[in-house]
Amino acid sequence: MTKVRTRFAPSPTGYLHVGGLRTALYNYLFAKRHNGTFILRIEDTDQSRYVEGAAEQLMESLKWTGLNYDEGPDAGGDYGPYVQSQRTEIYQAHAQKLLDSGHAYHCFCTPEELEKMREEQMAAGKPVKYDGRYRDISPSEVASRKAAGESSVVRLKMPLEGETVFEDLVRGTVRVQNELVDDQVLLKSDGFPTYHLANVVDDHYMEITHVIRGEEWLLSVPKHLQLYKAFGWEPPQMAHLSLLLNADKTKLSKRQGDVAVEDYIGKGFLPEALLNFVATLGWSPEQDREFFTLEEMVERFDISRIGKAGAVFDLTKLNWMNGNYIRQLSEDAMTDFFLPHLSAAGADVSDRKLSAKIIAAVHKNVSRGDEIFHAARIFYKDTLEINDPEALAHLQPDSARVVLEGFLAKAADHDTLTMADFKTIMKGVQQESGIKGQELWKPIRIALTGEISGPELPAVIEVFGKEKACSYVQQTIDRYIDK
Ligand code: GLU
Repeated sequence: MTKVRTRFAPSPTGYLHVGGLRTALYNYLFAKRHNGTFILRIEDTDQSRYVEGAAEQLMESLKWTGLNYDEGPDAGGDYGPYVQSQRTEIYQAHAQKLLDSGHAYHCFCTPEELEKMREEQMAAGKPVKYDGRYRDISPSEVASRKAAGESSVVRLKMPLEGETVFEDLVRGTVRVQNELVDDQVLLKSDGFPTYHLANVVDDHYMEITHVIRGEEWLLSVPKHLQLYKAFGWEPPQMAHLSLLLNADKTKLSKRQGDVAVEDYIGKGFLPEALLNFVATLGWSPEQDREFFTLEEMVERFDISRIGKAGAVFDLTKLNWMNGNYIRQLSEDAMTDFFLPHLSAAGADVSDRKLSAKIIAAVHKNVSRGDEIFHAARIFYKDTLEINDPEALAHLQPDSARVVLEGFLAKAADHDTLTMADFKTIMKGVQQESGIKGQELWKPIRIALTGEISGPELPAVIEVFGKEKACSYVQQTIDRYIDK
């Protein structure tokens, strides 16, 4: 059996789209499932969309996800170069082959001519399509126009009749009437290939066995198959993945949320969580569980279980998954993960031990890295401030004073305050005063944190230590409880 070879072939735009990440992941999983090779190819032939540093950015983001490619621009391999802009001559030679064999032709239409063609077709209510006016241009006319300095493109000669039928691994049998397919430009007047020519040539020479990509390319397949036929090459198998959708079922768009993997990195998502989530967008492994490591996904990946319907990008689910992954981190890894987010929010993180305690106190309340500072805000205030009227109201009953004074009296017996000490003290206050439930817990919480809800109190005590805890309780009595 031939060795499976798949490729992720992004056009670098400056960021890695989450839809692109899913495409990369499925290509990776499929290759690895079949002990094959996963390749990264940069498709940067569109010079008008060139973005400085975009390819490097993309590779960096891909590395963050852990989807390591076996061959690629910076990974080497026997099928390079893996960057299309370094392969221009190969495409030009192949365009010439097609011209020589009569499968392609020079077209001298100017942009104005094409625009006029479009307008006339629209006015006549016809489908807009290149009308093939240069299909039968003679070699001598090509030569004389070229000699006169006219610029031309090379177009593919599509059959005018019949239909192209192919099997898609996700969509099943697909049929397209050939007359609906344009005579695609293959080589532009600047000598650069279009996506279609470069893609087919590269997939052939890189010996790609399976093309897995987004469904926006489905209708290009007839052109590609025509190219394979013209070159006398065997086409790879194809799988076209459905669109990713916003919650309202429209196409996933920046306007409704983040689409760049880099945004998710910045907000504090873990690569394992993002991959796990993205995997389920269209692929349903056996329904027995929700969480999979990359290795487990490889073991289970089955292309026949990819659905045809668009998959909703459910941010709530991603957040939930991410929270779960965060809570599985070791204490050290968790500290490493959250520290940059605390620091970015302005927190002093010079004392790693203290930061680790703070993180331990609040991590249960966050699902992303960038939520940590807000969840931990009480630890970064220098003074006690109680402003919330509801919090203030909890301090007014006599029982509040009893609890707080009881706490101070008992704390005085301890040199330091541990979590266990705190629990013992509060138990003692409850037994002596008979105050329990909200009446017991709210005043002490508000005195320590200034708020009516937040991190678990023993953890707060652990971070504050005795001096600060007692000072806050004393201040609460002095400043907020009426004499
Ligand atoms: N460069 C194309 C893209 O970014 C690749 C499509 C394909 O995989 O064939 O969408």
